[in-house]
Amino acid sequence: MQGVCHCTDCKRRTGSAFGLSSYFPRTRVVATDGQTGVYAFRHARCAHDQARHFCVRCGTTLYWTISALPALIGIAGGCFADEGLPEPGYSANHDQKERWLALPESWAKDTEAAERPFRVAPQACG
Ligand SMILES: [Zn+2]
Repeated sequence: MQGVCHCTDCKRRTGSAFGLSSYFPRTRVVATDGQTGVYAFRHARCAHDQARHFCVRCGTTLYWTISALPALIGIAGGCFADEGLPEPGYSANHDQKERWLALPESWAKDTEAAERPFRVAPQACG
């Protein structure tokens, strides 16, 4: 599953207006090559712990784990080697979307993240 997230953490992670995230079962990821650093924190809005792995050479966030989704690994959408990303299917923390950003109506939209505990994607944060 792939989606965009408009939370403050994803904006800061990407240095952009939103984050593009792809989630896979951890058992499907066969290798992570290269040295990474880890930035761990408590996501205040979504009430879960995250560990973000980034390239120690350039600082780009590559992948992450989320305590609320222990069977999944999140991979930064822009970090895949192959060009041509699949269309995202959801918009997490949609209430924090920049007003000037237009998204397809067909995408699922999560606007209640602040009022309830973290849910499994596609309504998930990150
Ligand atoms: Zn987010």
